[in-house]
Amino acid sequence: MVENKAEEYSQQDLQDMLKIYYKRLFPRNSFFRWLTYSHTEPSIFQNREFSFTLADEVYIRYLSYENLNEFENDLFAKNPFKIDIGAVMTIRPKDHRVGNVQPTQRELVFDIDMTDYDEVRTCCSGADVCQKCWKFMVIACRILDESLREDFNFEHILWVFSGRRGIHCWVCDKIARHLDNKNRNAVAEYLNLFTSQNSTSRVSLPGDRMHHSMKRAHRIVEAYFDEICLNDQNIFGSSEGRKKLLELIQDENTRKELEKSIMSVEAGDSKTVWDIVKRYVIANRNVKKLKFLIEEIQMSILCPRLDISVSKTANHLLKAPFCVHPKTGKVCVPFNPSAVSKFDPTTVPKLRQLLIEVDQFDKKDEENGSEKSRIALTYRKTAMYKSVIIFEEFLRKLESSHKNAGTKLEISDAKMEF
Ligand SMILES: [Zn+2]
Repeated sequence: MVENKAEEYSQQDLQDMLKIYYKRLFPRNSFFRWLTYSHTEPSIFQNREFSFTLADEVYIRYLSYENLNEFENDLFAKNPFKIDIGAVMTIRPKDHRVGNVQPTQRELVFDIDMTDYDEVRTCCSGADVCQKCWKFMVIACRILDESLREDFNFEHILWVFSGRRGIHCWVCDKIARHLDNKNRNAVAEYLNLFTSQNSTSRVSLPGDRMHHSMKRAHRIVEAYFDEICLNDQNIFGSSEGRKKLLELIQDENTRKELEKSIMSVEAGDSKTVWDIVKRYVIANRNVKKLKFLIEEIQMSILCPRLDISVSKTANHLLKAPFCVHPKTGKVCVPFNPSAVSKFDPTTVPKLRQLLIEVDQFDKKDEENGSEKSRIALTYRKTAMYKSVIIFEEFLRKLESSHKNAGTKLEISDAKMEF
């Protein structure tokens, strides 16, 4: 798919377009509502670190704002190509030169990038993405989302398209925001199903039983395996792909026995290769070390490839939702994890198209009342609308959980009095 390359933005173009985008479309109020967490802690917004990337890769860290107004003024003055969100700090990050700036809280974040799948995808490479390879992201999102909800009881999870070829996940539950680095590390390691041995990363399933979370992940992987690996990507069609398959087999004898038969299969035929492996495992079903070989291979190819360095520490910055990717012009839109398989990275709203929609709206709706109400309405008339609704829905749940927490507290206080 050449779709990513079709649209190019010069720095000047981008600057001019972003000026309108931030004024008319960027959901600043919702963004502020998110990062104030219903004002549960007074300094939560003021002590948050932001960073802006400007033209010519000028990168400004340690920005912080007292309120929405101050944030907006700086946004309109700088029109950043990228906004990153960092941690909430002990002091205002803008005062970092005069005080000790340390993270006190930060959403637990995950970053999954398609480039980490380059050894198993054949449809595209590098920065490109199509609907076929997006399925790798669908699996990653579904496995992580289920594990975060079921194993950790997290509820407030925001999923965002990264603007080019990956996805970001923001876990916003209070408990997640207050994890120390040690516990962040532990959660990230738990969710990273891969182990590294002799430079090969694989999913290892030793012992007689599969852990519940591994079984759950495998159910998702299994549902997609034939479609992705044998059809879409035809992974074992090339001798290179077959070599990678053999590398995933830990037992040397098995590897050697299978090597001969799979290397002689006609090129381009993944299905026969996979049938040979499956038949071999069934014929040797009593051999303990082969018990989960099929599952190990399937999961090693399709399980989420996390960039865990992003998740391990609280002060890692991550691109904000609703940024515009400066190369693709695509908006980093939130998406609903339960509908991730329907998300299409090739048709997400693009800056140029959005501004055409803004123009059309202005021409059509001149009777639309005051300038202010017209501006407030703009996003509703563009392709942004759906993703803003998803973000609003996430916020509504987040805010109602704060309200409920308040009610619970009042009830328990009332009880204390009797
Ligand atoms: Zn692709």
